[in-house]
Amino acid sequence: MTDEPLTPIPPAIRRRLICGNWKMNHTHFEAVQMIHHFSASITEEDLAAVEVSIHPPFTDLRSVQTVLESEKISVVLGAQHCYFEPKGAFTGEISPNMLAKLHVGYVIVGHSERRLILGQSDEVVAKTLRAVLAAGMSPILCVGESKDVRDSGGAQSHVMAQLRSALQGLSPALVQRCVVAYEPIWAIGTGVNASTMDAQEMCQVIREEIETIVGPGVGSGVRILYGGSVTPDNARSLCRQKDVDGLLVGGASLDGDSFAKVVKAAGR
Ligand code: PEP
Repeated sequence: MTDEPLTPIPPAIRRRLICGNWKMNHTHFEAVQMIHHFSASITEEDLAAVEVSIHPPFTDLRSVQTVLESEKISVVLGAQHCYFEPKGAFTGEISPNMLAKLHVGYVIVGHSERRLILGQSDEVVAKTLRAVLAAGMSPILCVGESKDVRDSGGAQSHVMAQLRSALQGLSPALVQRCVVAYEPIWAIGTGVNASTMDAQEMCQVIREEIETIVGPGVGSGVRILYGGSVTPDNARSLCRQKDVDGLLVGGASLDGDSFAKVVKAAGR
């Protein structure tokens, strides 16, 4: 095993990225089983067609890292969260460098469950995103509106405000290392995914807004994912939208077979 982190290289073209967010599921024993099941259900060709990351709970990271690296499985290790400070008296938290040392490549930042259930503010999201970049990893910045906000017609302005708060002031080079995931809250874990049209529309608006916030030409290099009740059945049509560069997958990433089906569908 080398000491080289698996830090993703910013893609010259927007290579599709499929991320499995396990949330608070799978012990480290179950995690290893899942990775074995997943790798038995997928081919090297499938894994060459798209980039895949898996985001287990903290307690599973070392076990999953060992399996991925020792068995040369072409999957990037991801994390679900970290704190923005480098070290110190922050009981229960994990620093960006602790993740980087485990060869984590992507860290989810500002997931709606952390914003809503754990009170993560826009300010903390912005600081965490910068700390992840400073540690050499890529943040996957989650943005998305609630059902009430969508019903009242405020979805785009809500998502744009979240985006602005996180990205404002960053250099174009740093923003190009970020991934943005549009995850409408009403679609997460509900079985009701956004329509392909709605997903495409919001991803396009996000890309345009990145150009406004950071500068012309930057948005076209940033990968924008859709997340919310993705399944093997809807993955392909969502991924075929012009501005949807991949998927953030929760429930359907927990089982090796179903996540392999999502990855295969996304690569077609
Ligand atoms: C998520 O965890 O970000 C998510 C989109 O979950 P699900 O796919 O289960 O809706």
